[in-house]
Amino acid sequence: MRKIIHIDMDAFYASVEQRDFPEYKGKPIAVGGSPDGRGVVATASYEARRFGVKSAMPSRQALQLCPELIFVRPRFDAYKAVSTHIREIFSRYTDLIEPLSLDEAYLDVTEDKLNIGSALEIAKQIKQAIKDELNLTASAGVSSGKFVAKIASDMNKPDGLTFIGPSKIESFIEKLPVERFFGVGKVTAKKMKSMQLHTGADLKKLSEPDLVKYFGKVGKFYYAIVRGIDNRTVQAERQTKSLAAEDTFEHDLITIEEMHTELSKLADKVAIRLNKHQLKGRTITLKLKYSDFKQITRNQSFPNPVSDYQTIVDTAKLLLENVDLIDKKVRLLGISLSNFNEIQIHSRPGDPYQLQLFD
Ligand SMILES: [Mg+2]
Repeated sequence: MRKIIHIDMDAFYASVEQRDFPEYKGKPIAVGGSPDGRGVVATASYEARRFGVKSAMPSRQALQLCPELIFVRPRFDAYKAVSTHIREIFSRYTDLIEPLSLDEAYLDVTEDKLNIGSALEIAKQIKQAIKDELNLTASAGVSSGKFVAKIASDMNKPDGLTFIGPSKIESFIEKLPVERFFGVGKVTAKKMKSMQLHTGADLKKLSEPDLVKYFGKVGKFYYAIVRGIDNRTVQAERQTKSLAAEDTFEHDLITIEEMHTELSKLADKVAIRLNKHQLKGRTITLKLKYSDFKQITRNQSFPNPVSDYQTIVDTAKLLLENVDLIDKKVRLLGISLSNFNEIQIHSRPGDPYQLQLFD
């Protein structure tokens, strides 16, 4: 039986801001873009969540829900410093660490470096170290597989610690609403509900071929997971070749101005993701698909790795100048960074910042 911990910092960016700026303590704050533009909330403090403010919500909408909401620009350097520190804390117990983002990771402590033996005790110690050394709180879920550990870490936030032992796993999953299953988005959840599938127990009634027939490949995962079977290992290192953002437009683009606007948005997305994953790349690639679906790419490499918005957008615009746009319409633009060298990157399916590979 494996011992898996999922650790997740509570309202991460917002908590770091409240820790570093006492004037934000006890106040509803939103780290992210300003409500004047098209910004979105990256993280809301718990005080703001009480008003319904959530991650990924347009900042303007957040302000309507909570008029006294304080908007705070993200300080990624501060978050990275905390991230490095918590990973160092994790590494006191195990080297099998799979970071999912700056503030979240799976740990396999089946064998721990300090011979503590109890995953629950290790999770307690990690939470305490985060409190003592960083003055922040984290929530932890402990179980024998990743799926249940992750759901468990979210159950008693903030400052939660939830243990789902082997004998409780199956009944835990049976009671779980389908929305909580990995890979179930709004569309799939709706489909499941229309089929009277509301919980894990309902899914359990279906055969594996039926689950695959209705939901595709992920049906196999559902079949196993509702039976408590989750053998996915904690992946300590996983290298990805590129990090990309792309967009297919509702209306094909014709003017260079329109394309520049879209490139700015894409460059912004890529820069934010690079920051989030603490990555820099040496090669910037522009991808473009014409209205006739013909696709081309252009790229430029640099002697030193880059990750900043300005370099990315300037390079993308420069690369666009080398593309034949005469009498053409553009249906898709994409920007990717690659050539990361020794730096490791971590991703997971379903992550809003999921990394894509350009072909
Ligand atoms: Mg978190």
